[in-house]
Order: sequence, then structure tokens, then C-alpha cells
Amino acid sequence: MQRQSSFGTNGGKLYLVPTPIGNLADITLRAKTILAQADYIAAEDTRTSGILLEKIGVHNKMISFHKYNSQERAPELIKLLQSGKTIAEISDAGMPVISDPGYILVQACLKHDIPVVSLPGPSAFATALIASGFDAQPFTYYGFLPRKESEQLPFFEQMSAASATSIFYEAPHRLKKTLSRMKTVFKPDRQIVLARELTKIHEEYLRGTISELTAYFEENEPRGEFVVLVSPNSEPVQSVSESQLIAETTELVNQGVSKKDAIKRVAKTYGVSKNELYDRYHQGHES
Ligand code: SAM
Repeated sequence: MQRQSSFGTNGGKLYLVPTPIGNLADITLRAKTILAQADYIAAEDTRTSGILLEKIGVHNKMISFHKYNSQERAPELIKLLQSGKTIAEISDAGMPVISDPGYILVQACLKHDIPVVSLPGPSAFATALIASGFDAQPFTYYGFLPRKESEQLPFFEQMSAASATSIFYEAPHRLKKTLSRMKTVFKPDRQIVLARELTKIHEEYLRGTISELTAYFEENEPRGEFVVLVSPNSEPVQSVSESQLIAETTELVNQGVSKKDAIKRVAKTYGVSKNELYDRYHQGHES
């Protein structure tokens, strides 16, 4: 067991400091104080953060710390912390560590018994979740999904069956493709919320079914930053045995439905993973 006190120790400390996700006024008083008082600011992109620090009137030493140099840089930062220095870690926007580098430094600090102090503040997924209208308890945050279709689909199958709200981040130039893949897995009336440009002038929420949103983006190009939220599956997942799933798939195949479509249909009906059903179906037909 490790017991760690954030306050009252005079040694080195790592502060995780959230920064605005688009609206400068969202910097907290405490974040500003820590950024001004820390010995160093470890920033993902010193140029981007330099602009922010200039705007909030903080002039302090920055050290670059991003996913490409984190492995070599972490031991150097640990040495500074061990010598009693304080470091404020920031990312380009929002909470460090949330879909941002930072985790490696947190882990290294914990390993060396260096206190880690987390400051509350803006994060895109929490901002979107509470205005989505979907139940916020429970929710699952996925960060960025893998890009390949074959790796993305199992995530959509999981979200399709989930009784929790699902949240992920997506880049605007990939959004249309992602929505069209979601459409192949979700029922057409599944409710989706897209939270766009949060806290900025063009902030908006696009709420609708997966079919409505895919149709909307056939006419409109996605622009800006997006958080994608999927409503919880409100239909109780019917409990079903493995043999029944295979029997229903076989029945459809016997009726002339292609194997692929039969698996897709049965998986959708019972909210089970298409890939898992595929494996089970094939195992069942090998023996
Ligand atoms: N650390 C950040 C946080 O706490 O939310 C996330 C950083 S991640 C590298 C960047 C992604 O977050 C964007 O591609 C977008 O999906 C989402 N995001 C960040 N700012 C946003 C905003 N203002 N509106 C909507 N989504 C945003």
C-alpha cells in the first residue's frame, strides 16, 4: 500500500494542471497560481502553451514533454522532482493525461514516491457528457478509437450493447467514415450526440439518431473539434444461450441469408459481439 499526502510536504511535486479547451476564461485561479509558482512547466507543445501562458500573464520556464520524447525526458524530470523542484504538467488543451501524454510521468512519480497533485478543470468529454442529455452514470470513455475498420468495429459492437453512455473523440476529417461504420452496427434509431467546438464561438450540439446524423453529414462537412456520445442501450439485452445464437444463425443461413448477414442480424438482435458470434458459429460448424 502507498499512502501519499498532497499538501504539507516541502519536497518536489508534480501538479497536473488542466488548461482551457477553447475558452481562455476557463483557466482556474488555482491553475494560474500553480503555473506561475512551479519551478518548471512540462508542456506537450511549448509553442502552443507559450501562447496560452502569454495570454494569462504567466512567465515561467517550460520543458517540452510529449509522446515522442516522454521515455527519455521522464527520468530527467524525476531528477528535478527528487531535488525538490515542483513541476506543473500541462497538455495542449484540457486535462493532461486524458487522451494526452502525461501518464508516463505520473507513473514514474508514483514509482519514486513523488506526490502527484491533480487540479480539477476543463475536459472535453466531461463537458460534453453533462449536456448530452444521456445518463452520466455509468459512462465509458474510450478516448480516440483505433483507425482501422477491423479494429474499430468491435468497439462499436461493445457500445451497441452497452447499458452505459459511451464517449469517444474523433477528428473532423474522419467523422463521416466513423459515423457510417457505426451505422452498420447500431440500430438506425440509436441516439447520438455530437458536441462540437465546446466552449468556443461555434459551439453546438448535434442530437439525433445515427441515421439522421449520417444524412446530415452527407450535406455538411464536419468542421472543428468533436466529442461523440452514444446513448445507453435502453432495450434490455435478451438473455440467450450460445447454442440458441448458433441455431438462429444456422436457421437464417438455411433460409438463404449469407453467413455474414446472418451473424450480423443475430448479433444485433441480442446485443452480442459479431466477432464472437462469428468465432462460435465457425467452431460449432467445424465439429
Ligand atoms: N486533454 C483533452 C481533454 O481533457 O479533453 C483532450 C485532448 S485530445 C488530444 C483532443 C481531442 O479532444 C479533440 O480531437 C476532440 O475530439 C476533443 N476536444 C478537445 N477540445 C474540444 C472542444 N473544444 N470541443 C469538442 N471536442 C474537443
